[in-house]
Amino acid sequence: ASIKAGWNFDNSYAGLPKFFFTRMEPSPVSAPKIAVLNEPLAAALGLDAKALQQEDGAAVFGGNRVPEGAQPLAQAYAGHQFGHFTMLGDGRALLIGEQMTPSGERFDIQLKGSGRTPYSRRGDGRAALGPMLREYIISEAMHALGVPTTRSLAVTTTGENVIRESELPGAVLTRIAASHIRVGTFEYAAHWGTEDDLRTLADYTLQRHYPEIEAGENRYLSLLQAVIRQQAELIAKWQLVGFIHGVMNTDNMTLSGETIDYGPCAFMDVYNPGTVFSSIDLHGRYAYGNQPYIGAWNLTVLAETLLPLLHDDREDAIEMAEEAIAQFNGLFSAHWLKGMRAKLGIFGEEPEDESLIKNLLMLMEKYRADYTNTFLALTFDKREDSVLFGTEEFASWKEQWQGRRSRQSESSEASYQLMRRSNPAVIPRNYRVEEALEAAVQRDDYSVMNRLLSVLSRPFDYSPDQAEYAKLPAEACGPYRTFCGT
Ligand code: AMP
Ligand code: MG
Ligand code: MG
Repeated sequence: ASIKAGWNFDNSYAGLPKFFFTRMEPSPVSAPKIAVLNEPLAAALGLDAKALQQEDGAAVFGGNRVPEGAQPLAQAYAGHQFGHFTMLGDGRALLIGEQMTPSGERFDIQLKGSGRTPYSRRGDGRAALGPMLREYIISEAMHALGVPTTRSLAVTTTGENVIRESELPGAVLTRIAASHIRVGTFEYAAHWGTEDDLRTLADYTLQRHYPEIEAGENRYLSLLQAVIRQQAELIAKWQLVGFIHGVMNTDNMTLSGETIDYGPCAFMDVYNPGTVFSSIDLHGRYAYGNQPYIGAWNLTVLAETLLPLLHDDREDAIEMAEEAIAQFNGLFSAHWLKGMRAKLGIFGEEPEDESLIKNLLMLMEKYRADYTNTFLALTFDKREDSVLFGTEEFASWKEQWQGRRSRQSESSEASYQLMRRSNPAVIPRNYRVEEALEAAVQRDDYSVMNRLLSVLSRPFDYSPDQAEYAKLPAEACGPYRTFCGT
């Protein structure tokens, strides 16, 4: 059966020193059943979705059977949570193994919700169905929006309940990632490992994610610079689509540059840099507008772990690290500006572009305009009955914008096409996600979620079936709240 399913493991992480993980098997569950399976992703991984459905896919994804060639392990890591350093690790997840795809790529296959591990602390090692489906929906939406992210291969119900504030049906998410190496993995090595451990991890990361960086000069500085570049680009992409991660702790920042950990994340509706959805983010540390600053903060933590590798002289090492970190703002701004210009159909660069963009955002904030739908309306030159579009301030902004577009040599058709490619018709609206989860979890009806997934999988299609999903909730739903660790 394992041959038919297409498992093809090559487990490089398991070859690292024992210090980095604990080998162990997932805890079996009573009645594993696949609730959602991502068939296109399965195919890309070289897996046969039919075989997984018919054979022992549920047993593998539920943690009852370890496929041939897998070497399950819980990864050790540390991290700064809301600014405070602590030991963490896979408390409810296991890396099953690394799948080699037909095109020769390597992906972590991780089970999230697979039972207790030595890193579980007081947790039960399990996950509830709702949050795992939520991660599936939002991570797949992010992928379709062109944002680097871990992905979701399957959600498997366990037949067991988990105890939270109430009893909830349990599930395991099968997560796919370029790797699960986090800033927190480096913090763990720097804090509790030897310098050899740290170097081993850095070399491993270089080989796995940045093979183009050659031996020589200072490859550890090059690693730091590469991660800074990736994260600057990633966070710019979050800002451009209005994604709020919600828990940008250093253990939730990857070295690969993929978005990870879809606990309390959500998309912003009304444009407001202060937007926070997470119920535990009391001071707005991870608010929308703070994400670039927190990104730089996290990268500073990474830089600190790398100091011993950067230079024998600590002062010199600090100087190198600081210079690297100082690049972040410029890199972020360049990506952000490029993306914003595209959202406004602007080619080339004029010095006033930045103020043109910021003025629009200011008006959006002032008149409480929906972020996604404002850009959508601009794309199609629809006025919508929003307050913003009725104001004189907007009319004068629009004149400047039109003036800017008329000064470029590209046709207005080209400008329109650029906007279409850059402004999604649909994002995972909070009320749409909630209604899909409710149908699935309360009524075992996955049709609502499957429709939503289908619409979200092609956000730039502008097909008629998407119009419904672009709408805002019918009535004010009150402040939306998200939760971690369920
Ligand atoms: P997060 O806030 O999702 O980044 O998780 C922080 C840490 O808590 C990680 O080490 C998780 O593995 C751990 N954790 C979260 N939920 C549970 C749980 N139910 N049981 C055990 N560990 C958990
Ligand atoms: Mg996490
Ligand atoms: Mg989490």
